[in-house]
This record gives sequence, structure tokens and C-alpha cells, in this order.
Amino acid sequence: MMTNRNEQHRIAIIGAGPGGLTLARILQEHGVKTVVYEREASPISRQQGGSLDIHPESGQRALREAGLLEQFQALARYEGEDFRLLDKTGKVYLDEVADSKDGNRPEIDRGTLRGLLLNAIDPTCIHWGYNLNEAIPKDNGQHELHFDNGHVDIVDLVVAADGAFSRIRTLLTDVVPTYTGLSMVELYVNNVAVEHPEIAAFNRRGKLFALSDHKGILGQLNGDGRLCVYAAFRVEQDWVETSGIPFDQPEEAKYQLLKLFGDWDESLTTYISSATGPIVPRRIYMLPVGLTWTHKPGVTLIGDAAHLMSPFAGEGVNLAMLDAAELALSIVAHQDLSAAVQAYEEKMYPYTAESAKMSDDNLALCFGEDAAPKLMELMNQYHDQ
Ligand SMILES: Cc1cc2nc3c(=O)[nH]c(=O)nc-3n(C[C@H](O)[C@H](O)[C@H](O)COP(=O)(O)OP(=O)(O)OC[C@H]3O[C@@H](n4cnc5c(N)ncnc54)[C@H](O)[C@@H]3O)c2cc1C
Repeated sequence: MMTNRNEQHRIAIIGAGPGGLTLARILQEHGVKTVVYEREASPISRQQGGSLDIHPESGQRALREAGLLEQFQALARYEGEDFRLLDKTGKVYLDEVADSKDGNRPEIDRGTLRGLLLNAIDPTCIHWGYNLNEAIPKDNGQHELHFDNGHVDIVDLVVAADGAFSRIRTLLTDVVPTYTGLSMVELYVNNVAVEHPEIAAFNRRGKLFALSDHKGILGQLNGDGRLCVYAAFRVEQDWVETSGIPFDQPEEAKYQLLKLFGDWDESLTTYISSATGPIVPRRIYMLPVGLTWTHKPGVTLIGDAAHLMSPFAGEGVNLAMLDAAELALSIVAHQDLSAAVQAYEEKMYPYTAESAKMSDDNLALCFGEDAAPKLMELMNQYHDQ
């Protein structure tokens, strides 16, 4: 049997997010060992938050390549595909109830997905508490990796799976993420079914979008019983600082947020007033739609590092995992590592550009004029296809 020369190469993956872990797992399945460096101190050092819908042609395909599709199906929440669309008066535009078994975009909590991948990877490959500071290209195509803790590694390929603000991206392009014009404030209603049964019944088992006046209240039921809530605003980049809202004082922050939704129906504002615990404001950034770069040996990007986009096509995690599958399979199929990376890059550009455009268009629609009726029309067109 011919051995794949790439089994002998040293491949480093920076970032143990969904992209990096899927890549490590699929390569491991093909006998290619990698080293994963993650800046977080341990798998439990940060609350992972948020529920993700995993699409058949991308996230689920990657899980199949990883040999984890059946385990995923056992963990996934098919009923989480319920979707409600309203405007600020509480008028309902869409009220979709998912089939509990046969939906094709089931939900999984981010932490559960990470656990599924981590359990399937040789733990000696993953180095926690390694924050990459710099990757320095050498003349022979290798890269010298420098970490905050003083560790240095020399590798044949470094894969940047280090998310939105990748430290490696500058080796391939000068382009940096720009602010989309949207800021989202993240809150949680804990144990919603027991503590707020009226909200649980109103929201149902999946997502609720209330959109009006260039603003939104978005609800998303997580598998751990929490309702993740986003209050979303079309605002200047420095709004988090200039709004005067003390996000580190949750009760006062909620009071001030509610004033911004003063004429919204109580069935919606209760999502904010019922929240407990920390409140996190997030600015939403994106890379230009259709970003490409000139291939260089020994380095590439996957996931958000390659094509950061707003979450309004629900594609970010799915694409990170698909990129991982495409890169892993290309590495296995080619004898030459640089040719493998280049083939992956050429394949990845068109499918990610399409999703990035959809995300951008959806953000403009969701926070533009008459958002609820327009989103209803778009989704009805999608269902009719
Ligand atoms: C508010 C919000 C809601 C979202 N909702 C959805 C959704 O519903 N569906 C969906 O598909 N997507 C959603 N996304 C997008 C999704 O979270 C990302 O697209 C996805 O996580 C990208 O995966 P990744 O592996 O590329 O990067 P990440 O998940 O960002 O992982 C990067 C990893 O790299 C590590 N890292 C970073 N820098 C370094 C360094 N210097 N050294 C070592 N390690 C490093 C980080 O700690 C992290 O673990 C949402 C995003 C946001 C902001």
C-alpha cells in the first residue's frame, strides 16, 4: 500500500473551535497526526453558549467524514427547528412547527458539539493554554510558531482555525474584518420552561425573531434549558461605549435596554426583563464577501479566519466544519502538501462567497424597512423552491 507522504509532515492547527477540531478528527481518521494549539486554558474555561443548526450539505457532511454523524444525530434536537417571526406589535408573520424526527437542520448546543469532537480526538494532540503570538515564515515553506508561554514549534503546515481575529491571516492578506453596523447584546433567561413557562410556550422549541425599526429581539432555546436572547441594534461601531448602558450592571443595563424597546409588545420585552446573569454586548464584524488570497506554501485559513460573516445565514459553524473536511480530504488525496492546500483553497472560495453574500443580504433585510413582512416573503420563496 502506498503511504501518504503527508503522514510524515508536521501539521499544526491553531484554534480548537468547531473548524480546528473537525480538521484534527478527520485527519486522525486517515492516520495523519496533527497538533492543535488552543489559547483557552481548558475545555471548560469558557462558557460556550448558543445553539447551532447543522446543515446536511456542510456541517453534517463533515461529521459523516469524521465518523461522528450517528453520535451527532443522537444528541441533536430536531424540534429546535421551530421558527416564529413577528414584528414589534406581536403580529405573527411565520409560525413554523418542526417535525420532531425528520427535519434536516437539527440544533445542537455549541458546548455539546465541542464535547462530541473532543471525545473523538486523541487528547495528547491538543495543547490547552497555548496562545499563538506570531507565525514566522521560513525560506523552505515551513513556519516557526511562537506562543505567549515561550513555546516555539516549527511546522510544515500551519492551519489558522483561530476565528474572527486570526493572528495568521496577515501572512496571506492585508484585509481586516470591518464592523457590519450591527451590535447584538446577549442575555439569558435561565431554566425558561420552569421559571417562565409563558415565555417558553410563546417562543416554542426553537428560534423567534421579532424585527421592526432597524432593531430586533431574537430568542433561541438551548438544549440546557436556557433561552439565549439577543437584543440587536443598527448602531455606530462605538455604541457599546457611547450608549451609556452599563453592561457590567445587569439590572440597570436591562432597564436602559428596555427603554430602547419602549413601544414594543410586552410579549417580546419580557425576553429582556426576565433575563438573569451577565449581559454581553457583541459587535458583529465581517470580511469582504468573496475574499481570496495568493496561495503560499505552508499556511492556510479555515472557518471564520478565512471568511468571517454575520450570523444571519446560520452558516458560520457549518462552513468552518465543511472547510475542515475539504482540507483534510485534500491532504489525504494529494502527495504534495502545498498542492493539497491550494486545491482546498480553490474549492472553498466559491461556496463560502455564496454564503457570505447571503449573510450580508439577510442582515440588510432583517434590519431594514418592513423587515418582518420582507423576511416572511423571502422564507416563503425558499420553502417553495
Ligand atoms: C452572536 C453570534 C451568533 C452566532 N450564531 C451562529 C449560528 O446560529 N449558526 C452558525 O453556524 N454560526 C453562528 N455564529 C458564527 C459561528 O460562531 C462561527 O462562524 C464559528 O464559531 C466559526 O468557527 P471557527 O472554528 O472558525 O472559529 P471559532 O469558533 O471562533 O474558534 C476559534 C478558536 O481559536 C482560538 N484562538 C483564537 N486565537 C487564538 C490564538 N492566538 N492562539 C490559540 N488559539 C486561538 C479561540 O479561543 C477559539 O477556540 C454566530 C456568531 C456570533 C458572534
